[in-house]
Order: sequence, then C-alpha cells, then structure tokens
Amino acid sequence: MKIIALILFLIFIILPIKADNIKDGNDIIVEAFRVQSKIHAPIDEIYYLLKIPNLEIYKLRNDNGVKYFNSKKDFKVGFNDNIRCNKSNKENLKKKFSIIKKNLNVYKSTFLKLNNIKFIVLCENLFISEHNTGGVYDINKRTLILDINFNIKHFERMIHHEIFHMIQDSNKEIFDEIKWKSFNKKKFNYTECSACSDLKNLNLYDKTDGFITEYSKTVPSEDMAEIYSFMITDRNAIENIIKHDKILNNKVNFIKSSLYLIDNTFNF
Ligand SMILES: [Zn+2]
Repeated sequence: MKIIALILFLIFIILPIKADNIKDGNDIIVEAFRVQSKIHAPIDEIYYLLKIPNLEIYKLRNDNGVKYFNSKKDFKVGFNDNIRCNKSNKENLKKKFSIIKKNLNVYKSTFLKLNNIKFIVLCENLFISEHNTGGVYDINKRTLILDINFNIKHFERMIHHEIFHMIQDSNKEIFDEIKWKSFNKKKFNYTECSACSDLKNLNLYDKTDGFITEYSKTVPSEDMAEIYSFMITDRNAIENIIKHDKILNNKVNFIKSSLYLIDNTFNF
C-alpha cells in the first residue's frame, strides 16, 4: 500500500514538471501582425481597437501615464475579425501584470508619448489569422495588445520587442532599412516576410554572426526589434557579444543613435 502511495505521489510530482518543460521548450513565435495583406487599409487598423468589447480598466494611474485594460470576455476584432484573444484568468493576470508593469516602467512618459504608446490591453492566447502572436499594436490608437500567456522564457523580452515595433513605426524615417541592410554581409538576404518564414527560434545564439537570434534573420524590422529587446533586458550580454561581433556592434550603435534622435534623454 505504501509503495502504491509512493508511486502516486511521484506521479503527481513529476507530471507537472514535465508539462512545464514542454511549454518552456517552445521557443517559437509567429508575429503575424506583419502579414500586411490581411489588413488592407490604415483605416481598418485605426478602428479595430475601438471595437474591442468588454474591456475593463485594470490600472489607470501610473507614473509614466500608461493605462492598462483587461479583457473580461473573449473578443474578436480587426479586419474580418482576424484578431482574436481570450479573457484573462484572474490569477494569471495578477502574476503577469507585475512583470508587465516592471518592464513598462523602464520608459518615461515623454518617450512613450513620442512613440504612441499609451494603452496596454491584456488578454490570453492572442491570434492574428491562424498565427499565435505575443503582441498586436496600433500606433494610431496608441495601443498594444499583449498575450499574457506568451512563453514565459521570452515574455519580458517580447514586451520590449513589441514596443520597438511601435517606436520604429512611429519614426519610420529614422530607422532606414537600406542603411540597416548594409551592415550585413553582402551575400546575406532576409526572407520575404516574418510570418511566412520558418526562422522562428527566439533563443540567443551561442555564437552570433551578425544576428542575435534565428528570428532576427527574417526581416530588418524583426532584426532590429530582437536586438533592441536584448539591449533593454540583458545589457551585459549585448555588451559582451558586440566586442567580438562587428556587425552586431554596428547594429547596436545604429539603434542607440536612432533612439537618441527620437529622445536625447533616453537612457540605456
Ligand atoms: Zn516583431
């Protein structure tokens, strides 16, 4: 009897660990909001966020002016309802909100204002078309929808990755992609689009060669967003890597000087 009890006890102990490992092992992400063909005109994007039903205020008063909303019910919005997300689980929301807030607090209100970042919508299992994604944003509505169920291993970095897209889209003339491409080796070519590429791994390369992750190789904007997210979340790692990687060194300097043009008080 004791042996049976012991076996049952071990099963209880082992099973959840296994499940967690499997979840953490999934390092891929598809950022399908970059599938531009699905959203035909800017006007579709401008209005989709207005239509999010059942949002509740989660936290309005924050030092840097960010306002957080939570979805009380599952919702579908966007062109042909192609963006969908589930309501948040209360416990999960509480846990993830502290992480999200800590990461958003890196930014001053002036910087957020310059980059059209104001409203954060929190929900679970965010999809655009058939692709699971960490975030969907609209700079015209100054809104970023975040999936609080995104792989915890990359969760904090994902937040800054999405924020970078908002920074870049708010300052397209500064982040010149032709200049960016010139940093790469001549024979290198990015893929057609990030969502249709097979390069999705978000793990930091052991040995970088101009790229920080596999996902960086998809398109210039993802390359920039990946580097930026490490600059914010793992500064030491980046500083060490660029000592031995000239291409990445140029890319990091390009991002730094571009951000300085947007806000010369922005502090890395
Ligand atoms: Zn991205």
